[in-house]
Amino acid sequence: MTKNVPEIFGSMVFNEDVMRQRLPREVFKSLKKTIEERNEIDPSIADVVASAMKDWAIEKGATHFTHWFQPLTGTTAEKHDSFIAPVQGGHVVMEFSGKELIKGEPDASSFPSGGLRATFEARGYTAWDPASYAFVKDGTLYIPTAFCSYTGEALDTKTPLLRSMDAISNQGMRILRLFGDTTAKRLTTTVGAEQEYFLVDQEIYRQRKDLIYTGRTLFGAPAPKGQELEDHYFGPIHPRVAAFMAELDEELWKLGVLSKTKHNEAAPAQHELAPIYATSNISVDQNLLIMSYMKRVAEKHGLVCLLHEKPYKGISGSGKHNNWSVGTDTGINLLKPGKTPAENKQFLLMLAAVVKAVDEYQDLLRVSVASASNDHRLGGDEAPPAIVSMFIGDELQAVVDSIISGKSFKGAARGKMNLGVPSVPTFTKDTSDRNRTSPFAFTGNKFEFRMVGSAQNVAFPNVVLNTAVAESFRQFADVLEGAENFDEALSALIKDTFTKHRRIFFNGNGYSEEWEREAVSRGLSSLKTCVDAFKVFTNEKNVALFATHGVMSEVEMHSREEIMFENYAKVINIEAQTMIDMTAREIIPAVNAYTAEVAATAAAKTAVLSDADIVTETDILKKLSALTHEAYDQMQALREAVLAARRAPMGEVMAESFRDNVLPLMEELRRAVDEMETLTAADFWPMPTYGDMLFSV
Ligand code: ADP
Ligand code: MG
Repeated sequence: MTKNVPEIFGSMVFNEDVMRQRLPREVFKSLKKTIEERNEIDPSIADVVASAMKDWAIEKGATHFTHWFQPLTGTTAEKHDSFIAPVQGGHVVMEFSGKELIKGEPDASSFPSGGLRATFEARGYTAWDPASYAFVKDGTLYIPTAFCSYTGEALDTKTPLLRSMDAISNQGMRILRLFGDTTAKRLTTTVGAEQEYFLVDQEIYRQRKDLIYTGRTLFGAPAPKGQELEDHYFGPIHPRVAAFMAELDEELWKLGVLSKTKHNEAAPAQHELAPIYATSNISVDQNLLIMSYMKRVAEKHGLVCLLHEKPYKGISGSGKHNNWSVGTDTGINLLKPGKTPAENKQFLLMLAAVVKAVDEYQDLLRVSVASASNDHRLGGDEAPPAIVSMFIGDELQAVVDSIISGKSFKGAARGKMNLGVPSVPTFTKDTSDRNRTSPFAFTGNKFEFRMVGSAQNVAFPNVVLNTAVAESFRQFADVLEGAENFDEALSALIKDTFTKHRRIFFNGNGYSEEWEREAVSRGLSSLKTCVDAFKVFTNEKNVALFATHGVMSEVEMHSREEIMFENYAKVINIEAQTMIDMTAREIIPAVNAYTAEVAATAAAKTAVLSDADIVTETDILKKLSALTHEAYDQMQALREAVLAARRAPMGEVMAESFRDNVLPLMEELRRAVDEMETLTAADFWPMPTYGDMLFSV
């Protein structure tokens, strides 16, 4: 059966072509201008657009519409309204007005607002983001929107993202004008988010309360085999997984998502999907669609998709490499070094802007990826450390070093790759190898921010990146616009910036302990846990950054800070409760049942043979009884610690109490239980093991 991908692609999207076909010429032109120049929509055309959208959506099977938004829960929200409107005679017609398209009024009171709600009304608004196309799924027209409070504070992740895109565009255009670009109107940031995930068989998943309630395993002894043979990465794709991936691709293509690459990842049962990059706000929306479709398509194949950053202890976790670049609306990628980067001053200035941004706002970048779940991954030996540093490749590093030292740069010659097999074509090698352990790496014409967690919305890291680079651009433009001699000022600025921020460059093994010590001696910020990171979010310098560029007000930042602390406490609380529940109601009873059988065996043996050898039974009984006792005590201690943490003042103090008093006890309890697992007969163990989960598909 042939698949007509070009026909499938975007078939459920109200994209530019559909707009052109379905809207009157003038209306189409006006809407396109709104989208491209990101100015306000002319209200007089909204009714026409809405009506065309509705007719198209109905043809695609829609009966409802929804404003789709991204509250601060980390997921998306939607409330569906049908198009019906009553008419005389007990009938209905299908209606959708411009007003309904542009603005929605969901009750904001049940979404996290981090204190904004206490001071302001519960009313909230959603506002259409025309730059992200509407689409039809599940019989509903989805309209991507931004979400704000009655008083205009952003209650979502998208509003700051759109503001940050404007900020970097405004400041960056000042620089481009200085380089003589008179045609570009805007700068656009682009994002390609590589999504890692795990699959597990649904039946097996259902038997693990920890997976159901927390998305990760809270117990589990290692399986005899893990990922040490390195036989899964890029390995052949199992037919069941391949069928899932094929359907996922097709569903995503229908929605206009440029799903491109799929492969097995390092850990057993781990996989990755990478789309082709898109403009930041579209890419963020699409990544949320990717995550949601991974879950629903998996279910259709009897699988469950785990997006958690660390579903399994001792096995690689999942990240989401955030590939980021900035270009012009005329199609120029400003991070393209060209053949001779040493002579490409505009590129070097762009590079300097990012270097400065990453060094000065390393703490904010760290905050933007901080979560209870990502804490298990960052600093583990398969993910970047919790310290931000940059790798730009050997060739560029040599250029930068020569600029700093004032010596002239001798270009590295590009070698030919010859495999010694005449039939295999020779090709030009890249001038430098990759550094897989760097948290922030330059990869040819884009930067790859690798600390981002697999489960998170990528909006926040991009808000930080866009705004921090906007600030570099702002300072650069201030200097250069006032310069008497542009070329001299430019060279001096590039040299100064690289010299001042050289500490951020690191090209060694980012997973090593030496690096951690070295980084601290360089004065780099090392925020080990997410709670440490949350604390620096509203530092004066960070508040000033977002205020300067109108990306987030101090009030909006404080509300987010509060939500981050509260969310952390809630996540650890749920995890601890789940452990207590599993220990008390599943694990201890199961181990007791097994020890009863062992005891019965010993008794039966000695009944027949008074001097029977019951050393094995006795030993198992002793060990398991001691471990049961230990686990029981740990569980009681955990219960107490959770109660104490919950009594702590909300926010920072409560989060710290969960981190410092609850988490370590969870570790202790796990240790005892995992040891019990290794001593208990398989038939008695009440849940699937690591081996069952990791090798179930
Ligand atoms: P790599 O081999 O370095 O991972 P790929 O070409 O496979 O590079 O790209 C990885 C991701 O980076 C993809 O999602 C891709 O679309 C994205 N990407 C490529 N160019 C850009 C760019 N200019 N801006 C943002 N993302 C990009
Ligand atoms: Mg990559």
